[in-house]
Amino acid sequence: MIYGGVEAGGTKWVCATGTGPEDVQALVTFPTTDPGETIGRAADFFASNGTLAAIGLGSFGPIDVKRSSPTWGRITTTPKPGWADTDVVAALTDALDLPLAFDTDVNAAALGEHRWGAGAGLDTFCYITVGTGIGGGVMANGKLLHGLIHPEFGHMRIPHDRAADPFDGVCPYHGDCYEGLASGDAIRRRWGKPPEELAGDERVWELEADYVALGLMNVICTISPQRIVIGGGVMNQPSLLPLVRRRVTALAAGYFGAAEIVDGVDDYIVAPALGDRAGVLGAFELARLAVDGML
Ligand code: ZN
Repeated sequence: MIYGGVEAGGTKWVCATGTGPEDVQALVTFPTTDPGETIGRAADFFASNGTLAAIGLGSFGPIDVKRSSPTWGRITTTPKPGWADTDVVAALTDALDLPLAFDTDVNAAALGEHRWGAGAGLDTFCYITVGTGIGGGVMANGKLLHGLIHPEFGHMRIPHDRAADPFDGVCPYHGDCYEGLASGDAIRRRWGKPPEELAGDERVWELEADYVALGLMNVICTISPQRIVIGGGVMNQPSLLPLVRRRVTALAAGYFGAAEIVDGVDDYIVAPALGDRAGVLGAFELARLAVDGML
């Protein structure tokens, strides 16, 4: 059985067909423009790439993932222009007449890492991406966590010392929330250059590590993950992950009594094993679970 997967991001969409990391049969990436054009390109790709059993769609959000809701399948309150209240599932289903499974992009990535990557064998862990924005997906006791809406790690509040960092933050809803202070967009606006042009500037990465670690500390205290998988474009800065690990160990201050957060932190906070394909591969797994009636 061949599956379709979509990682629907706010910047780009990745669409693929296949069954897993060793069997990606076709893959296309295109920029996120307006909903009609973007969804149309995805539909055209799947229509011309063989017979599929189902499609998994991991989307930027917030989205409505509650099956009983009248607005299930929609991107809801996103600040991304033109995309609020987009019924992305209906648009793809109308075009393709295939079963479609829908979740957040980061929950899909968590699922991919669980099946084939850094979350294998664990039943409670988090997948976090620090890119243009910040998102987090959670597997708890072996199931993807949704709850009231779905986790929105990017919008938790973290301490902000305005004497050390007077930057107001970039979140249109909250200003200096996690994403507002620590996303790639926040780095670009605070320092006047995108993260990839700031590689040699230690101040940038010391501050970024402080913020990323404060968010991870909240996640550890609330979710109690067995591992944190953290990816996204900002994490491509090689010095950042080691700094984040050290900060988390320091913030934990010996409290948890867990060796993982002290001597084992290099295996506790890790990069995605599937790299930047975690989302689209996880979307295959989302589709498979839907076909098997396991969602
Ligand atoms: Zn926010």
